[in-house]
Amino acid sequence: VPRSSNVELPVIPSGYSRPRFNRAIESLQSLIGTENVELNDKPLDDGWYLELEQEEMVSSATVYPSSTEEVVHIVRWANEFEIPIYAISMGRNLGYGGAAARVRGSVIVDLGKRMAKVLDINPDTCTCLLEPGVSFYALYEEIQRRGYDHLWIDVPDLGGGSVLGNTIDRGVGYTPYGNHFECHSGMEVVLPTGEVIRTGMGALPGNNTWQVFPYGYGPYADGIFTQSNFGIVTKIGMTLMPDPGGSEGFMCTFKEEEDLAQIGKGQVPIKRLREIASTLPCGDCSWVYYGSVYGPKKSRDKKLKVIRDAFETVPGARWIPRDSLPKDHYMFSREKIASGVPEFEELRWLNWHKNGSHVFFSPVSAPRGEDAMKLFNIAKKWHDECDLDSFPACCIGLREMYVIVNMVYDRGDPASKANAYRCMRGMIKDAAKAGFGEYRTHLLLSDQVAATYSWNNNALMRFHESIKDTLDPNGILAPGRNGIWPKKYRNKGWEL
Ligand code: FAD
Repeated sequence: VPRSSNVELPVIPSGYSRPRFNRAIESLQSLIGTENVELNDKPLDDGWYLELEQEEMVSSATVYPSSTEEVVHIVRWANEFEIPIYAISMGRNLGYGGAAARVRGSVIVDLGKRMAKVLDINPDTCTCLLEPGVSFYALYEEIQRRGYDHLWIDVPDLGGGSVLGNTIDRGVGYTPYGNHFECHSGMEVVLPTGEVIRTGMGALPGNNTWQVFPYGYGPYADGIFTQSNFGIVTKIGMTLMPDPGGSEGFMCTFKEEEDLAQIGKGQVPIKRLREIASTLPCGDCSWVYYGSVYGPKKSRDKKLKVIRDAFETVPGARWIPRDSLPKDHYMFSREKIASGVPEFEELRWLNWHKNGSHVFFSPVSAPRGEDAMKLFNIAKKWHDECDLDSFPACCIGLREMYVIVNMVYDRGDPASKANAYRCMRGMIKDAAKAGFGEYRTHLLLSDQVAATYSWNNNALMRFHESIKDTLDPNGILAPGRNGIWPKKYRNKGWEL
């Protein structure tokens, strides 16, 4: 997608003059190496920034550090030149903002390119220590290469992202180790002033327990470096799942009453969807349940029987035997993911549209049917109103349920983009009215979502702001991320 012709490239931060920007970049090049600083002056190959102009959230440059020390240099440089920086691990935060920065003209600190080492895998404690550029695929392959067959990892639907990036965005997977933040142990963080800290046992010189005990002594700081702009995480410890003795996927369909009468012009009619479904192994159904059981075969068989008996009490439920499914059926992709094997299958959703792009509506509920239905109906109302197809999925966590609605739209069509944006805004608003909040959201919607967590006159956000202003007095690190604006930007028209 070509840039509009009247924009001077690269875009520079608001309030900056071009000579000052050029001086800042020269200084950065002398610190990190000219070859490791790239100006963002080439045509964009994506243009999905909803109703805004493409240039609105575009960075000015990208810098590729190779070590924690270089990240410290970058942070000190950003303070000296008062230039906004935005750290990414691999920038594959698809559906939530990708590699974009919230503030136009920011310099992206891309940690993944040159900091991609698996620093340690301990086969006895079942733990590892990783740099930001280690993807789920890379970790999986390294474990296989070292022959640690007894170690499993947990993967999200797409295995190409960074383990560290996903974990500090509080991403989730599907095995019992699916809550990635809960399964981390220890971080190394560069604070916005350039100070480096290690959390948990990492603060104790000479320790060998950084990855086995997450807390150390005193307040537990790790949480404030997730979904925030309080520091740049340069290392993370993760716990690995000991092989439980195998796993096995299963699939069951549910034929619920349909109440989806209204059919918009762009939506595929529900009747047609059911016609197509009836020609597939899932048959004519409204919901498909994919799950996995863990353990040796004998115990898996017992668990499967209990689950099957319970599901079959629901009228119309159909247990689909695995051996009736073709080898390339989606169930087998789910089965792999649920046993920690990275996959890319989920990207096929994009084929729903020409120029397919997607954004997620990701509210959390208790794992109760009635709550899921409330959220499902909110999503349905807005998808009908905005003429979009809806792809809801309910993923059960420990006690919570993620009701993930993947909205696929045509990013080449301004009307489709505008509808996607309107639909997201509407769903967030209605969900909050009904008492539900999102666990994660797209960069552009973070102000709206953050504002829904407003109990006691926004006390929580004011607390975040005090931390931000203390740790980052010049407001250089990821201003606006997760709705947290530093003093320099706050209430000056940046909030969306
Ligand atoms: P990054 O993009 O590198 O990081 C995410 C954000 O965290 C960055 O924007 C930045 O703000 C911050 N950040 C990253 N690194 C640092 C750092 N070192 N210091 C400070 N801040 C940092 N996600 C899931 O969790 N589970 C799923 O099952 C899942 N399924 C998906 C299915 C589809 C079809 C799609 C399109 C996406 C899915 N996602 C899912 C979302 C996304 O693809 C993953 O979460 C992905 O792992 C995130 O990209 P990343 O790991 O490269 O993180």
